[in-house]
Amino acid sequence: MIFADVIVDISVKSLDRPFQYKVPKDWEKEAVVGAQVVIPFGRGNRLIQGFIIGLSEESKYDIDKTKSIERVEKQGVTVESHLLSLAYWLKENYGSTMNDCIKTVIPVRKEVKEKLDRRVYPLKSREEMETLLEEFAGKKYAARVRIMKELLKEDQEVSGGVSYSGLLKAADVTSAAVQGLEKTGILKISEKRQYRNPISNEYAEELLPVLNREQEEIVTAFGEDFSVGVRKNYLIHGVTGSGKTEVYMRMIEQVVKTGRQAIVLIPEIALTFQTVKRFYQRFGEEVSVIHSRLSGGERYDQFLRAKNGEIKIMIGPRSALFTPFQNLGLIVMDEEHETSYASDNPPKFHAREVAIKRAEMLGASVVFGSATPSLEIYLRCMNGECTLFTMKNRVSHAVFPQISIVDMREEFKRKNYTIFSHLLQEKIEDRLHKKEQIMLFINRRGYAGFVSCRSCGEAIECENCSVSMKPHEYQGKVTLLKCHYCGAEKQMPKACPSCGSKYIGTFGLGTQQVEDMVVKRFPEARVLRMDADTTSGKEGHKKILKKFSTHQADILIGTQMIVKGHDFPEVTLVGVLAADLSLYSNDYRSAERTFELLVQAAGRAGRGEKPGEVVLQTYQPEHYSVTTAARGDYEGFYRQEIAMRQILQYPPISNILEILVCSEKKEQAERLSNILAEQIEASDKIRRLGPVDAQVAKLRNQYRRVIYLKSPDYKMLCRQKDILEAFLNEHLEYKDCRLIFTFN
Ligand code: ADP
Ligand code: ZN
Ligand code: ZN
Repeated sequence: MIFADVIVDISVKSLDRPFQYKVPKDWEKEAVVGAQVVIPFGRGNRLIQGFIIGLSEESKYDIDKTKSIERVEKQGVTVESHLLSLAYWLKENYGSTMNDCIKTVIPVRKEVKEKLDRRVYPLKSREEMETLLEEFAGKKYAARVRIMKELLKEDQEVSGGVSYSGLLKAADVTSAAVQGLEKTGILKISEKRQYRNPISNEYAEELLPVLNREQEEIVTAFGEDFSVGVRKNYLIHGVTGSGKTEVYMRMIEQVVKTGRQAIVLIPEIALTFQTVKRFYQRFGEEVSVIHSRLSGGERYDQFLRAKNGEIKIMIGPRSALFTPFQNLGLIVMDEEHETSYASDNPPKFHAREVAIKRAEMLGASVVFGSATPSLEIYLRCMNGECTLFTMKNRVSHAVFPQISIVDMREEFKRKNYTIFSHLLQEKIEDRLHKKEQIMLFINRRGYAGFVSCRSCGEAIECENCSVSMKPHEYQGKVTLLKCHYCGAEKQMPKACPSCGSKYIGTFGLGTQQVEDMVVKRFPEARVLRMDADTTSGKEGHKKILKKFSTHQADILIGTQMIVKGHDFPEVTLVGVLAADLSLYSNDYRSAERTFELLVQAAGRAGRGEKPGEVVLQTYQPEHYSVTTAARGDYEGFYRQEIAMRQILQYPPISNILEILVCSEKKEQAERLSNILAEQIEASDKIRRLGPVDAQVAKLRNQYRRVIYLKSPDYKMLCRQKDILEAFLNEHLEYKDCRLIFTFN
């Protein structure tokens, strides 16, 4: 008789342990570790889903009382046992339930029934479809035009498909019209998923670029390590446009040649057709992509293909990390500094750490790449835990833009109360005159509520934490300032504490207002704005970018969104309207974020033939994140910032565990957070801050309190987490409360 340990698919703490079941003879073959099963559960023997995490021949309990597995789901991908170990590692290191961790590492098929509805798959690339659409429009083929428009509407560049019946209705056409197009080879009607060949034939023959010296050295060094079985973590610190992607592809080529597979992680926002196309061009059918727009079922299909060995390279955001390759050789993580690599749902892991762990478990290497690496990874390089490669030159020999820093306090003194410095105004006029393009960047993140002085730029900071204090409104007026980190409070001052100016307060400036001001000041300019409001809808983003890249506008105004990865060769001026606002956001990483944004923003200028220029407007021209960014001096920034983290014991020098206590009842959340604070081991290696109200003190009717623990010893923080979890399990009076742990 075989017994299976099963984790039930219910995210409740008290059920988050294995339950033993008998494996019926008929299912012995299918019941492997990682299989998805249906089991009778509880007194009513309700049928629920679960996962087998272990098998044994011994019964832990009374055999007669042990229930039997109802059936094994055939469609469930069985996880390799290493993915289960990875799930266990996630649970141990990041908190959250085993069930949530298992669901993170394996794709779960939601609908068990195979859907057999007919779908329509375009077989041409987007560009070709657009050309065809124009052709049909020219010939006045109204039905075909409507079909093409529908097919182009969906953002289905990488994999595709719209429902057949839906298409008939939306395009208001007969089935004969669609079938007619099928005959021409433009689309395919099918019940079986079709994979579009994303490369039109003319691209198929690609000339491999000759690597430059920097690239060559890195590829060779990696190849030598890999061929003799050395597996390491590497960081490619390379300026934008230095040819990192080309280097990744050469590395992957070497790995794939040995019969191993590779995962390429890209932040969701950068996951454009352009990026993916480069990989398709090089590796063809061996590549697959997953992204957030795929349904659960589609994602599952891609993972199945990876498991079956149909593909060798998986590209995607965070979740691609768990692709069930049989013989993984390399994980590439591009734009390593991106915040989207941290999961906001439990388990709250960081892809960087999980990549390193997964690679270690499987004997694979990890290659990180960034123009502005996180302090976490750079510190590892300094400690010798990660091999550092540096690329200092742009492939195209494009010169780096010239960067001017403008002190906005001086502008204020000179009675310039607008948001544009004299220098920036002059340069904008100059570019408009020369018909060159301009990007204006505002940093919204920082504007979200802090109090600062318009005369000297000083923000009001907490004395304990050196983060900005958040204004609290009372009857429409800011009366109180609070630190959301330690809970300290302060009355809203009447005048600036450092210069005495009365021009003090919260001031918000959105992209909309900036647009209005630009239009007023430069009435002749054609202006585009890119923010959450103008990019709603699947295509919003792309439409704006396309318009700008075809020079249908002179100025593009936007937030973080516009600094990421886009390449506009006609842009010769980038204005950063307030280069320091993010320094005040309530986060110990604000200097790092500011540096990163400034460097990336500067990287947008002068990508083409003409040299670029950047104007950084700031109230803190002397701040090291501004001065080092202006020089493009990452090492200089790193030295100052790591010293700061050292002094304040912030990550990556130390670790922070954030414990969020949530309850629908305010008193419960308060009481529990106070009691938990007392449970924490007294030790000189742990510092506690709080409990205080969380930054978002109430969310979806849940009251939230927060405790921070700092310690240089990560394991110690994990232990505190276990202690607090155990405490909650034993005290049923708090069973309505929930704890969420986040490690930093
Ligand atoms: P990064 O990823 O560092 O921003 P990319 O890999 O995107 O840089 O390279 C920038 C551009 O230079 C791309 O268009 C790429 O095709 C091209 N490129 C890369 N390496 C070479 C090379 N050795 N010779 C010529 N062009 C190259
Ligand atoms: Zn504080
Ligand atoms: Zn002041």
